[in-house]
Amino acid sequence: MHSLTFLGTGGGRFVLLSQRRYSGGIWLDFGTKILLDPGPGALVRAHQFKKKPQELDAVLVSHKHLDHYNDAEVMIEAMTYGTKKKKGILAINKNALEYISEYHQKAVTVIVPKPGEVFTVENIKVKALPTFKHEEGIGFRFITEAGVLTYSSDTGYSEKLIYGYKDSKILLLNVIFPRTKALESHLNTEDAARIIGDVKPELAIIQHFGTAMLNAGPEKEAAFIEEKTGVKTMAARDGMTVDVETLRTEERQLRLSGF
Ligand SMILES: [Zn+2]
Repeated sequence: MHSLTFLGTGGGRFVLLSQRRYSGGIWLDFGTKILLDPGPGALVRAHQFKKKPQELDAVLVSHKHLDHYNDAEVMIEAMTYGTKKKKGILAINKNALEYISEYHQKAVTVIVPKPGEVFTVENIKVKALPTFKHEEGIGFRFITEAGVLTYSSDTGYSEKLIYGYKDSKILLLNVIFPRTKALESHLNTEDAARIIGDVKPELAIIQHFGTAMLNAGPEKEAAFIEEKTGVKTMAARDGMTVDVETLRTEERQLRLSGF
């Protein structure tokens, strides 16, 4: 099964610190296994949701904020059998590279893609995408046998982003704010609806929720987007797995004890 699993769906400092939603990033499994934006708790959540960190082929970091890079080093250690074996890829935004120790960089192949550049992780082509007004970060577009999965990362709204998102089967947007709150460095529900309405993916998923979004109710915000655009839109939950082929979802709310 080609799938993505949310090791966290929280965003912003207060949700991160309270762990009201987890912050472990997104585990992609296309046969090739890729961890996207490992924030605090990625290692713990990977074990919690029955993932095997030693099987990772790559760790991807979109930008230099803590909720995106914090567990990159520990996940590199897990991927490389405690750095005993040079293995796998760290693909990382240029501004975040300095946060990764030389010791950990040496254990992997480091790629620092510019927006528009394509690199490969085993059989998966990945294209770095631009973001808007967010630390010169990057998004990622995964070209897989099951279809294209596009991840915006944190970004403000710009119509210039749309081109990179086109022809996505799944469009994954970091929507930190609900309709009632707006900031040019982040997407809110209205921005997401504009993007999703233009791109028309088969499935849109919103995630990376801040406090105001959680208080407003991500499911309600997703329903608003779906009604406005006609595109099936889901609010991600911690531990949710999406089958990239069938678009079916499954949830695992496993307790921490006993894994
Ligand atoms: Zn950020």
